[in-house]
Amino acid sequence: VVKVGVLALQGSFREHLSHLENLFKELAENSDYSMYEFKACKVKAKKDLDSLNGIIICGGESTTMTILLQRTKILNTLREMITKRHLPAWGTCCGLILLSNHIENNKSKILGDLTYECIGGLDVTVSRNSFGRQLESFTETIDLTEATNHQIKIFKGVFIRAPTITTIDSNDGTKILATVTRNEHTYVIGAMNRTVLGTSFHPELVDGDYRFHKWFLDEFILKNLDL
Ligand code: GLN
Repeated sequence: VVKVGVLALQGSFREHLSHLENLFKELAENSDYSMYEFKACKVKAKKDLDSLNGIIICGGESTTMTILLQRTKILNTLREMITKRHLPAWGTCCGLILLSNHIENNKSKILGDLTYECIGGLDVTVSRNSFGRQLESFTETIDLTEATNHQIKIFKGVFIRAPTITTIDSNDGTKILATVTRNEHTYVIGAMNRTVLGTSFHPELVDGDYRFHKWFLDEFILKNLDL
């Protein structure tokens, strides 16, 4: 069984789970995948991390999510699994923040100036709320043709108080996934290394489109099953 976990402490985890379940239904009828049995599961406690083959960290609010990760004692184990044991991981929006090794303008209204502990795994620096407040949320067409080697071409990017990637900090194979241009400024909105993927946008909020989840499954989870 290939088990894909979705961190389910807060945020858009239901949407990720439903995308995975719909994708798995589609794949059950696809003979290329007949050797696999897929399972999507919620991660709410440390024990739910057992025997996962990949994990998705959903959108939400990163300060809250870090507090919950510490309170549930998931943080250290998950960090060890992602950064040392190379568990494939994908973070959307808040999830991208949590998977980044460095965070800029890391201020919280509730907790003040905090240097909170992230999970890490992707050697990039992110800047939170790069496009402004909730009201400035937008959708933008993203071209993923090259990054996904033609598996996905045009994709609808949903941005909600989204972070962006300001620098790629190492040459360990970390690369840019995509950019968008707004107000004459080009922003990096996704990055990846061999096992960790982070996107500023939310493919889980695009109804009926499971292509991005399929790409994560193919290129990050199935390719690394024996890591
Ligand atoms: N701005 C949020 C944060 O900093 C992330 C927003 C999102 O996940 N949609 O946590």
